[in-house]
Amino acid sequence: MRIVLMGPPGAGKGTQARRLADSTGMKHLSTGDMLRAEVAAGSELGLLAKGFMDRGDYVPDSNIIAMIEQYIADPAGVLLDGFPRTLVQAESLDASLEKAGLPIDKIVHMTVDTDELVKRLSSRAVCSDCQTPYNLVSNAPSREGVCGKCGGSVNVRDDDKPEAVLNRMKVYEDLTAPVLSYYQLRVGVTEIVATGTPDSVYEKISQAI
Ligand code: ADP
Ligand code: ZN
Repeated sequence: MRIVLMGPPGAGKGTQARRLADSTGMKHLSTGDMLRAEVAAGSELGLLAKGFMDRGDYVPDSNIIAMIEQYIADPAGVLLDGFPRTLVQAESLDASLEKAGLPIDKIVHMTVDTDELVKRLSSRAVCSDCQTPYNLVSNAPSREGVCGKCGGSVNVRDDDKPEAVLNRMKVYEDLTAPVLSYYQLRVGVTEIVATGTPDSVYEKISQAI
């Protein structure tokens, strides 16, 4: 299966994609995680990407497509998280999948009110080693700054700082909302209200797919 999880920053795509990947064996492909790994490794792509990411802007389409292209036909099935985010990326994905003879099985759009998104992002922290998400208000690590899962360090992402968050919301509206309209016509989009506990959202998505 090939499933695309869409939704604004803070909707919980990464959290849900990781759980779905664990329970189904599908591959979790997160362009955000891949880029953060490049930044951490200090690669050429990472150096280029960091400037865009810290401001809350998108990394250029050509870099994103080159980075992810080789993984999207994985025979285990894929859960796409954070890709495609622009019309150019969507068209590139469609062309690659068509060439491989693979359809997109489901597009899930996770919706959350803007107020709630801003609240979530301002209290979000993440393990820089295993990417486990934490919430500093409702789900803080039991030892401050230390990941309970792997012992790595838990930090607030630079792009979750308030100035970058507002820009990310705007960029999402400008560049990613059109991708939803594009797929509404071509594939169909399943809407999921992604408020409530991670468990209840997981139930809804599992049912939808
Ligand atoms: P979120 O969904 O919370 O914004 P991600 O971890 O998916 O977070 O992405 C973090 C940042 O990485 C984005 O703000 C953007 O700069 C960059 N990025 C991730 N995926 C893409 C993509 N498909 N196209 C362009 N930039 C991307
Ligand atoms: Zn960890």
